Amino acid sequence: MDDARKIIKIDREVCWGCGNCINSCPFNPENSRVPLMWMKHAPILRLVNGACYVVSNACSSLLPNCRACEKACPTGALRILIAPLDTLK
Ligand code: SF4
Ligand code: SF4
Repeated sequence: MDDARKIIKIDREVCWGCGNCINSCPFNPENSRVPLMWMKHAPILRLVNGACYVVSNACSSLLPNCRACEKACPTGALRILIAPLDTLK
């Protein structure tokens, strides 16, 4: 994963704003499961106008293997893509 970057993609037309992804995220301040010093990057996800929005990409480097939000999404609106770093330059 060191040579790749996790990218969270949300189709806001498909998202129904249930918040499951946010509730499952270790960076959610309400269920924090990451070191306190990482919480300066929180939240990663939040609801904006009734649909989910990616606030930060910090989990790409801090928790590169986490896919909890994608697994929790009931609609398939949230997907995680893994992009080689050399395609992002
Ligand atoms: S991949 Fe994990 S850390 Fe990143 S937003 Fe989703 S649940 Fe949170
Ligand atoms: S879990 Fe999926 S449908 Fe629910 S708020 Fe998150 S992205 Fe939207």
